[in-house]
Amino acid sequence: MGPIKDKEKKDHESTKIDINKDVLYDIVKSHINDMVFIMRLEEGPSFRYVFANEPAKKYAGLQNDYVGKSLMEVLPKQQATNIHNQYVRLLEEGQSITYQDELICPEGERLTNESIVTAIEDKNNSIQYVVSVTRDISPLIYEKEQLQSAKERYQAIIDNNLDAIYVLNVHGEIIEANDAALKLTHYTREKLLKVGFEKLFTKENEVIIKKLVTDTINGQSMTIDFCSLLDTNGKECFTQVKSIPILVNGKCDGFYAIVKDITTQYKQNETILHMSLHDQLTGLWNRKALDEHVSRMITLMEKQSGEFSVIYLDVDRFKIINDTFGLQGGDEFLKRITTRLKKLTNSRSFLYRQGGDEFIYVLENESSSNTERFVQKILAQFKEPFCYEDQEFYISPSIGISRFPKDGYDAESIIQKAFQALFEVKEKGRNHYRFYESHMELRFPNYIMMEAHLRRAIEKEELFLHYQPQVNLSTGKVESFEALLRWNNRKFGFVSPAQFIPLAEETGLINPIGDWVIEKACEQIAVWRNKGHVNVRVAINISPKQFLQDKLIETIGHYLEKYNIPPTSLEIEVTEGAMKDTQQALNMLLKLKHLGIYISVDDFGTGYSSLNYLKSFPIDILKIDQSFVRELQQSKKDEAITMTIIHLAHSLGLEVIAEGVEQEGQVQFLQQARCQKAQGFYFSKPMSASDIEKQLELLH
Ligand code: C2E
Ligand code: MG
Ligand code: MG
Repeated sequence: MGPIKDKEKKDHESTKIDINKDVLYDIVKSHINDMVFIMRLEEGPSFRYVFANEPAKKYAGLQNDYVGKSLMEVLPKQQATNIHNQYVRLLEEGQSITYQDELICPEGERLTNESIVTAIEDKNNSIQYVVSVTRDISPLIYEKEQLQSAKERYQAIIDNNLDAIYVLNVHGEIIEANDAALKLTHYTREKLLKVGFEKLFTKENEVIIKKLVTDTINGQSMTIDFCSLLDTNGKECFTQVKSIPILVNGKCDGFYAIVKDITTQYKQNETILHMSLHDQLTGLWNRKALDEHVSRMITLMEKQSGEFSVIYLDVDRFKIINDTFGLQGGDEFLKRITTRLKKLTNSRSFLYRQGGDEFIYVLENESSSNTERFVQKILAQFKEPFCYEDQEFYISPSIGISRFPKDGYDAESIIQKAFQALFEVKEKGRNHYRFYESHMELRFPNYIMMEAHLRRAIEKEELFLHYQPQVNLSTGKVESFEALLRWNNRKFGFVSPAQFIPLAEETGLINPIGDWVIEKACEQIAVWRNKGHVNVRVAINISPKQFLQDKLIETIGHYLEKYNIPPTSLEIEVTEGAMKDTQQALNMLLKLKHLGIYISVDDFGTGYSSLNYLKSFPIDILKIDQSFVRELQQSKKDEAITMTIIHLAHSLGLEVIAEGVEQEGQVQFLQQARCQKAQGFYFSKPMSASDIEKQLELLH
């Protein structure tokens, strides 16, 4: 025996505790939780209880006289047989065996025991005793089962998830992936496990993905809202990535990366965004986009001390195109116009459809002289006719221009200034362009506000009629008047009918307003008649919109009756334009004539209609437009036209009246030409009814 072995023996002896056998017995008997049985082996073989500690006695239901009893005497038959068989197995197999058995308690609880059974031999190696140490392992089994089912549940969530889920280790390597992950990338499982996680995404996302991996491994969950991924075919799809660290005992053991495919949602959002910023008909940017872009451009130009132009374009007389070809035809024209306008767009000139027939260019960083050159190019686009249904049409635009920073500091006012400049162009004869100037502001009416006020004009009693006498040129007497509408608004003051009548027509307000005029005129006729002026006649203006409504006949008839006046005391003035649709106009005029009222053609000579209608329409009077009268004695041409109109009227048996007579010379000309009546400032301005009454007394 060497020195090392000697040392071991010594150590062993020094640690050996001299424990009393009784103490050991007591520990086993009362303090061990496991059940300990010692059985004596007898012939048969059979096994008899020699010793059972407290838990064993309790479990097997042993009474105090258990010593010497056999298994069969103590336990239920089935259980006893099972244990007996295990003990026999021990005898066959040798030193020690382990087995599990299950016991169902009377309460239904399932108990599982695990037993280690050992044989104790005597000096002659013959087995004397069998020792069974049995432990209730039910809680352990329960815990194991719970763990297994939790694992299965969690695995099912991963496996069946519609989002791609990758499990990564602490080195950021993919160690597991669900089916959705394979479907998203088109990799096989084997290949996917070899590809680096960040390699799944496009190059631009490399940095952010690397950050996600490091942050998550450090225990921090992270979300990337938008990240594009490339599949094995190189097809790009848009994803959202979320990482969740897997923490085991507070330490990160890897992480989950959930990759959601948001391609459809992204594309839908893109479409919605595109639609919200584009005009459907022309595909151009719309008003919303314009506001956004101009606001952005202001910020940009402010930084760069730059300038830009807003060019507001409106197609002249587009309403006529719409009226003639219908809305579909109008749309076709707009598309064709768009095609031409688009030719002028580039990286610094952007085109928008503002709405209707209005287009806007924004020229980034352009001087006013360049803008002017650009506008010339726009006008040049309209030099060639537009073809529609095998016919050629010439269309012209009117253009207003505003400039940043000169004309305003925010999008709304800059666009508004361009519109004011456009308005000025429209007022001054169209087909041209103008830069905004501050004086334009004063002339520009706020139509929206005006409409709101006009809506309440009747109820607020802001409307009234003025009457302009019509003088018989051979007798000098006044027998008739033209009723002219006046509007005195508390905000806008006196507004010219030339401004508010078109607004009323556009908004449909012309109907209640027109009815109001008919009633007031009839009422006034009745008042004058009651005062003895029984031959008085009043002419009222009927707007084309009103004229085409059947209701008009009913309304006029109703008021004639209500105020008990003869139809011959009422005259209606209709413009040539209103008689465009000949059949409908003829029907209407016949019905009006049937009522017995007079009908005159207002502003005669300025419309586009053929003179043919004069023969067939039941017309009584022609009113020579003031534009011809104004130039009498100065323009031979206008004199000739006036003469012709007077002759025409006479030859058709119509009465003729000249409007806008301001000078004596004009009166003389008209008298010589045998024009029956005249109306104008030379005789009298339009006046209130009470002022007229004073005149009537003078005249009669
Ligand atoms: P209109 O029917 O041709 O009316 C004649 C216009 O010429 C009136 O303008 C009148 O004030 C103006 N005037 C009369 N004599 C002279 C003159 O010697 N020199 C000049 N320069 N002008 C003269 P006002 O009242 O501004 O009306 C403008 C237009 O508004 C009218 O043209 C008519 O088309 C429309 N209007 C007026 N009242 C009504 C109405 O009650 N209903 C409808 N639908 N339209 C109306
Ligand atoms: Mg008139
Ligand atoms: Mg007129």
